[in-house]
Amino acid sequence: MLKELTILKQLQDLDDNILRNKKEIDRLPKIVQDLHEKYSSEKESVKNITQRLEQNLASQRKLELDISSNNQDINKYENQLLSVKTNKEYKALNSEITHRKERNVEIEEKLIEFMEEESVLREEKNKFEELYQKDQKLFEEEKAKIDKQIQELEKKVSTLEAEKDNLAKEIPELLYRKYQRLIEHNNGKAVATLLKNGTCSGCHFTVRPQIMVEVSKGDKIIICENCSRIIVAPE
Ligand SMILES: [Zn+2]
Repeated sequence: MLKELTILKQLQDLDDNILRNKKEIDRLPKIVQDLHEKYSSEKESVKNITQRLEQNLASQRKLELDISSNNQDINKYENQLLSVKTNKEYKALNSEITHRKERNVEIEEKLIEFMEEESVLREEKNKFEELYQKDQKLFEEEKAKIDKQIQELEKKVSTLEAEKDNLAKEIPELLYRKYQRLIEHNNGKAVATLLKNGTCSGCHFTVRPQIMVEVSKGDKIIICENCSRIIVAPE
């Protein structure tokens, strides 16, 4: 086979390898990003639940103040009862006392509702806090691992690119430029093989019999008439 064709095939192998590694370099950060989103959303949940819990506790404090203010009134009226002169006054004070006692019963019922909600919120808060801490740790571990993996892949790509540069020196510059253009504009594929069914592996166009013969000989550079890739005979 023509020396240039052998080198072009080797260049294509290197480019396939480079592309595989670059795709991995692009894919890996997405994993870290997903983990970051997961733990951030759990952290946000903890923040929201904490806010709701604070509101709940403030409402409870307010209701407790209402109860104690009603109790003070009740005490005050009960003391006044000891010194009332008229039946009318007695009735009025008693009615105030009854009214406040009824209010306190209502408030205590509400208070119980708030306390039940408080216990649910505390449980939820603990659950999300645990999740968020676990997932934040997972994110940090994965990030360190993936950062290292990316560094290694980038090193590998540099090595492959250096290898490619060296190999490129062995073919005419014009041919290499043509090859490079095909790599850039044809999804990373500049060299295609002639498949058993007589089609180009790059575009699946049926190659003319004359061209098939020339590709099989392998003594000159043949271009696919459809996709412009260089066609070589299979191994
Ligand atoms: Zn083709």
